[in-house]
Amino acid sequence: MAPIQMVDLKQQYLRLKSEIDAAIQRVLDSTAFIQGSPVREFEENLSQYTGSKYVVSCGSGTDALLAALMSIGIGAGDEVITVPYTFIATVEAIALLGAKPVFVDVYADSFNMNVHQLDAAITPKTKAIIPVHLYGQCADMELILDIAKKHNISVIEDACQALGAVYTFSDGTKKQAGTMGTIGCTSFFPSKNLGGYGDGGALMTGDDSLAEKLHAICRHGSKERYLHQYIGLNSRLDTLQAAILQVKLQHLDEFIEARQTVARYYEEALSQIPKWTLPIHSEYSTHTFHQFTIKVNAQYRDDIRKYLLDKQIHTAIYYPVPAHLQLAYQYLNYCEGNFPVSEQLCKEVLSLPIHTEMTTEQLQFIIQTIVNCPL
Ligand SMILES: *Cc1c(COP(=O)(O)O)cnc(C)c1O
Repeated sequence: MAPIQMVDLKQQYLRLKSEIDAAIQRVLDSTAFIQGSPVREFEENLSQYTGSKYVVSCGSGTDALLAALMSIGIGAGDEVITVPYTFIATVEAIALLGAKPVFVDVYADSFNMNVHQLDAAITPKTKAIIPVHLYGQCADMELILDIAKKHNISVIEDACQALGAVYTFSDGTKKQAGTMGTIGCTSFFPSKNLGGYGDGGALMTGDDSLAEKLHAICRHGSKERYLHQYIGLNSRLDTLQAAILQVKLQHLDEFIEARQTVARYYEEALSQIPKWTLPIHSEYSTHTFHQFTIKVNAQYRDDIRKYLLDKQIHTAIYYPVPAHLQLAYQYLNYCEGNFPVSEQLCKEVLSLPIHTEMTTEQLQFIIQTIVNCPL
């Protein structure tokens, strides 16, 4: 058996090659590399897909978070609440603007924001909350939105891992990840569920004036050429990326279903192994399985990884160190023990290979190897 990687971009490309090559060739023929027509077309299609009134594409998921915070005026003296158990970009965007990242812990079962800690974290300086829809499943948005509304603060969704996830509100209303808060941010990093062939990202909002402002911020703060209303960014989605993403968006539902099938396969087989904890499905959100992350005994995790790697099965740890214990964020004066659930998860989690091209043979081999694992 060939090594089993966390993602297999090559096989997916080969499957879509004729469509993607043609889309790339059209961009080459047009030479409209910046803001060519595929950019607008992709934004419109993504807006239809997600149900977000506006989609503004940009250079990356990190830029989307940064632009979102800039558009609502976050700066020095402001506090923004998020979780320490996330990819660092969520926290970085807050810190880059001179605002203070304030953390609340996550739930041990869903890996998402512990909404019960929000009230205690809110101060008169709190301007926004950034819930992260980790691994492809939405945080408890209904409660987060209620609390935010009560305190008149914005909600910026980090939907970089959860594009296409559907949240159901208690009244039955369904909304997609990234379309519930003030602004939603997503990423088209190649390994994401909708991945380009380079960096890319997008912002979603239902607010007319914010959409216009976000569009300007991502283009040097300019609405009219060489007139600059805001201090902005140079953050645009390349035409080539838009053309590739436009092709792949047509397959996104199928990609998500393929991931869900892999997850079901793992769940059925691994439910026989009680010592390993499977990811939960929350009652309010579908799971797009950007990652299939299990929890194992912290004491054996590294040995389990090594055992799997010896059998050529790659795994990953998202994330080994929580944001509040990262060197760069020492200035916030958090210490070990502040967010015990996040800290413990960092020691226990193990993400298994999951992507759109996994074969039954690969899955059977992984399951058999896991079943035989002595740890
Ligand atoms: C990938 C990711 C980002 C950043 O996206 P980039 O496109 O890589 O800049 C931010 N937050 C989360 C949770 C992510 O997974």
